Amino acid sequence: MKPNRSIDALIAELHALAQITAQEPPVVTRVVFSEADLRARAHVKGLCAAAGLAVTEDAVGNTFARWQGSDPALAPVGTGSHIDAIPNAGSYDGTVGVLGGLEAIRVLQSMGYQPRRSIELVIFTAEEPTRFGIGCLGSRMMGSVLSPAQALTLRDKEGRGLEELRTAAGFSGSLESVALNSGRFHSFIELHIEQGPLLEQEGIDLGLVTHIAAPASLRILVEGEGGHAGARLMPGRKDALAAAAELILALEAAAKSTGAVDTVGTVGVCEVFPGAVNSIPSRVRLETDIRDIDGARRDQVLDTLRAACSETAKQRGVQITTELVNADPPAACDEQILSVMEKAAADAGKTTRRMVSRAYHDSLFMARVAPVAMLFIPCRGGVSHRPDEYSSPEWIANGVNVLARTLAALSA
Ligand SMILES: [Zn+2]
Repeated sequence: MKPNRSIDALIAELHALAQITAQEPPVVTRVVFSEADLRARAHVKGLCAAAGLAVTEDAVGNTFARWQGSDPALAPVGTGSHIDAIPNAGSYDGTVGVLGGLEAIRVLQSMGYQPRRSIELVIFTAEEPTRFGIGCLGSRMMGSVLSPAQALTLRDKEGRGLEELRTAAGFSGSLESVALNSGRFHSFIELHIEQGPLLEQEGIDLGLVTHIAAPASLRILVEGEGGHAGARLMPGRKDALAAAAELILALEAAAKSTGAVDTVGTVGVCEVFPGAVNSIPSRVRLETDIRDIDGARRDQVLDTLRAACSETAKQRGVQITTELVNADPPAACDEQILSVMEKAAADAGKTTRRMVSRAYHDSLFMARVAPVAMLFIPCRGGVSHRPDEYSSPEWIANGVNVLARTLAALSA
């Protein structure tokens, strides 16, 4: 099997899509249901239609472009990613999986290949959390991890709700219908830039993702007693920041104590009130991010942190309340798809390594309803979510080549 299409057309399409942005190119900003997002959707749907794919959309704007197989009753093989982009982003995150997935289909079409199972390109709504504060809105609903009732409570910063915004964007119908039955897809493969430096550093063509780590996020509010930093003597102080410092160190120790390299714990937000040099902190808000590829191990760290909160509250006489913002389960990729991808890469003469996705993707939620795997290509310097994000035509061609071979093997 030899792809007989030049990569130039796909590179031109990636550049053209990057021109559809709310900012001055090459800065890409496409927030879900914004004017730029809707124009980008229309553009990509046009490309799908031109390739002879049948395009449908669900009630929240997830888009499906189907290449009918010779046995349409069989569950299709899915591939795809997202085209929304955070403010000040680049041209490759998500788009490589959408336009590269489309290109893989066109490669197979150009070779006269006829799939037995249909192949469906999926463009997920709102992978990025920019608008609603929650990532992977579309796939989360497809995987029934977010219920329609929960989805309806989502608001953006202007106070506009999902219902209003999706209707304005032209998407209607029951949100109940977004959830997929397991069995709706035979399998799902997402092509994506690595967003880390390993593949480029090691000179390896492709990463085969074995696990997708998932974050748990705990918000912690510490309330102590303020006062004058000079007048109030040390005995009996209830310094909220000193208490918070103990929690930060407790999380670090808990994450290290699992002995697994895949456990990570971070306090990325620390807001101190009133935040004056001569005032004892009376209130501190911490936001924590705990990730692992093993859900039980991650939740153990979470439990240790909660126990530290109770202990510190008791020891220091402060009040500590916690709120679990989210705790998505990590996903393991499907071993059978991984070995199909491994063989596809070997047949194409490309080098691979197995790796963990530390960022999360729509595949994390697709894993709830279908066997999934992810295929990573290098990106320069590991840089992503920035206008200088870059993946070379050769790297992209490798990804499309191996994706096409994998789709062919799975749909045969
Ligand atoms: Zn992405």
